[in-house]
Amino acid sequence: MKILVLNAGSSSQKSCLYELSNNTLPEQPPKPLWEASIDWTVASGFARLKVKANEVTQKEKWESNNRRMDIAKMLDSLSDGKTRVLEELSEIDIVGHRVVHGGAEYSEATLINPEVKEAIARLSVLAPVHNPANLEGIEAIETILGSSIPQVAVFDTAFHSQMPQKAAVYPIPYEWFEKGIRRYGFHGISHKYCAGRAAQLLGKPLDSLKLITCHLGNGCSLAAIKDGISIDTTMGFTPLEGLMMGNRSGSIDPAILIHLLKEYDFNAEQLDEMLNKNSGFKGISGISADLRTILEAIAQGNERAQLAFNIYIHRLRAAIGAMVASLGGLDALIFTAGIGENSSLVREEACAGFEFLNLKLDLNKNASSPVDKDIAAPDSAVRVLVVSTAEDWAIAQECWQILTKVRESKS
Ligand code: ADP
Repeated sequence: MKILVLNAGSSSQKSCLYELSNNTLPEQPPKPLWEASIDWTVASGFARLKVKANEVTQKEKWESNNRRMDIAKMLDSLSDGKTRVLEELSEIDIVGHRVVHGGAEYSEATLINPEVKEAIARLSVLAPVHNPANLEGIEAIETILGSSIPQVAVFDTAFHSQMPQKAAVYPIPYEWFEKGIRRYGFHGISHKYCAGRAAQLLGKPLDSLKLITCHLGNGCSLAAIKDGISIDTTMGFTPLEGLMMGNRSGSIDPAILIHLLKEYDFNAEQLDEMLNKNSGFKGISGISADLRTILEAIAQGNERAQLAFNIYIHRLRAAIGAMVASLGGLDALIFTAGIGENSSLVREEACAGFEFLNLKLDLNKNASSPVDKDIAAPDSAVRVLVVSTAEDWAIAQECWQILTKVRESKS
């Protein structure tokens, strides 16, 4: 079975192709046959394509005025040139898309039909950057591969759709909940994948575990997962709530916004820009949203960079504490994404807040660039895992399951 995965961001489109056996899914993520990404940020009005396949990496840049044509060009590299892995594009069996917002309607991956497309478009008001890009990818595939190719939407909100109401409803007038102002949670594909992988690594059934997954990348969120179900998470109505992030503030007192509106003549766009683009590591340090740059500045004695790091850890520990309380216990703490997978310092500092739970890190294991490993000390009461997140693989698995069911129902 050949599965194409599309993962669209605000200014990029990543894609990969998996070839899987029709009979069983491998336990661990296999290497994709082909990987590609288009970046529309390198220079204004230009697209840059990077393709990896057949042990070859190719890069190309062109003047761009039509993103769908750029996507078509990216897919051409599947059946053309040195990165060719298919005779023709019609060999692709199914296409999976990461879709950021599925609202309250979608609690699982879904075959795309006109109704699903309409819902993704309608939910664009809640994810104005991502949902339109996701829809663009879906429509580009319809144009390139024809409308009969099965396409699947895998929603970042779906994993949190079973959160109990006490975690999902904001304490504001209830009518707003009825109008859809509620906590949705994000990064669900990653949280779900990491929870499943952690259960595999621990050799225990997922439905017997209390887990906290820490997805720490440019965007950061935690999920409290009990018996395989997300019962609490730090992101809410939008991906702005919760932890401090690269350039997002995370949670702040909402009265600050009222104050800025009333006393400083801020408007909605300026507030949006401040909280989503100029806060977090970038806003405090004044240097960068990237943790690596912050750590370099700290090494050179930069106090604002140190403050940014201290706030990040303080808020991370506080949020882990909140998730422990929601779970009423903890079997494993799981770190993933750019910071979670690579920064031994963040893991060490985060864990240092939980020695009272008898959570003990093995500092040598923590420093050893662990991938899919338990880094807790043998006598720790809580396991600590580093899991390499594999969102594209998780999307491919959903596609495999859906297409297998469709084929079974036809035979
Ligand atoms: P995104 O959310 O955009 O997918 P990533 O998961 O790639 O982001 O995470 C990006 C973050 O990971 C950046 O803050 C970056 O500094 C951090 N990061 C990546 N590698 C390292 C490293 N070796 N040490 C510390 N931080 C790292």
